[in-house]
Amino acid sequence: MSRVFNFSAGPAALPEPVLRQCAAEMLDWHGSGMSVMEMSHRGPQFIAIAQEAEALLRELLAVPANYKVLFMQGGAIGENAIVPMNLLRGKTRIDFVDTGAWSQKSLQEAGKYGEAHVAASSAATGYDRVPPRADWQLDPDAAYVHICANETIGGVEYFFDPDVGAVPLVADMSSNLLSRPVDVSKYGLIYGGAQKNIGPSGLTIVIVRDDLIGQALPCTPSAFDYKTVADAESMYNTPPTWAIYVAGLVFRWIKDRGGLQAMEAHNRAKAAVLYDYLDATDFYRSPVQRDCRSLMNVPFHLKDKALDAAFLKGAEARGLVQLKGHRVVGGMRASIYNAMPIEGVHALVDWMQAFEREHR
Ligand code: PMP
Repeated sequence: MSRVFNFSAGPAALPEPVLRQCAAEMLDWHGSGMSVMEMSHRGPQFIAIAQEAEALLRELLAVPANYKVLFMQGGAIGENAIVPMNLLRGKTRIDFVDTGAWSQKSLQEAGKYGEAHVAASSAATGYDRVPPRADWQLDPDAAYVHICANETIGGVEYFFDPDVGAVPLVADMSSNLLSRPVDVSKYGLIYGGAQKNIGPSGLTIVIVRDDLIGQALPCTPSAFDYKTVADAESMYNTPPTWAIYVAGLVFRWIKDRGGLQAMEAHNRAKAAVLYDYLDATDFYRSPVQRDCRSLMNVPFHLKDKALDAAFLKGAEARGLVQLKGHRVVGGMRASIYNAMPIEGVHALVDWMQAFEREHR
């Protein structure tokens, strides 16, 4: 068996020790005689697994006591509807900062429930940056301000927690949660799908401040009402038990490796290898402004896109897979989440250099 370097944007590579532990515990979890997938979610064994996962996540992110951590389903796309249903709280307007495909998706969905307003956008410059905070046109009476903390497709990431005054700040952190420390207290709500830095798809993480819970629109499905979910400790309906178990193993793996500060150092080192090379050549190009280049998703273009197919084929032959860029933007994208070792990034840059020598 040989494992590839998997640059997929998600579902993405998981830490190998976690996969090995899953395999070792598959048929008989801790002497229970069954797999985690076969356990009742209301039994003491699974409840212990879920509680430990939540405790580890709280510890890693230093989640303040006045925030709930919810394990939900429906993905980040589901949350694009679930957030406005819960957070409008009698208000009508929602302010969005438009930085690309994922903030656009959030905005369109929220428009079904409220008045979605673009407070700032980088569309005019091809979504190559985060619009400067000074240019945001915010309504002090908005229900909340929504940002996409890391645009997985465009590769644009926030490296500041925007101050939006008393209005709650909501962030889609699907693709950068757990990649580095975050000051949760700056946000009213953080959400993300698990399938990048956390675990298998099927689990959605929601971290929400207590005062924002309990005023959902009457039409909100019970399973998506944060109050119902929080009161039932994320067990109102059957939660994605396997995904929660694997997420718990990933949280433990992060903690054992030194927590989020260590993840950040590792992720910065990896991203620097790739961006430094992109900046040193004119054969490839990064489409993103330097101060907001994502540490997680690195889109790049070859000078001549007629060479794209040959580049991908050669990469694949070297065990460097899933490098094709999203169809919306084309080119290449290397997703280098926590589980990508720096050796994978060096192998990619080695291939990029070899390809450049052959084709320049
Ligand atoms: N937001 C962001 C930033 C994403 O990267 C993704 C998935 N790639 C989504 C939302 C959608 O997530 P899901 O498919 O889990 O609903």
